[in-house]
Amino acid sequence: MTCPLCDKPTSPEFKPFCSRGCRDRDLLQWLGDGYRVPGPAIDEDGLDSDPTRP
Ligand SMILES: [Zn+2]
Repeated sequence: MTCPLCDKPTSPEFKPFCSRGCRDRDLLQWLGDGYRVPGPAIDEDGLDSDPTRP
């Protein structure tokens, strides 16, 4: 199993992530989604078709 963020081997301590840094990054992304105002060009991953949005 590898880290979903950077594909490094998962650490049992932080799984499913490889490190605290990646775990925090993912957490911040979740929180950021709640605070972020919906609009064009939100992120660089090309997630313009978010199924959770109407
Ligand atoms: Zn990672």
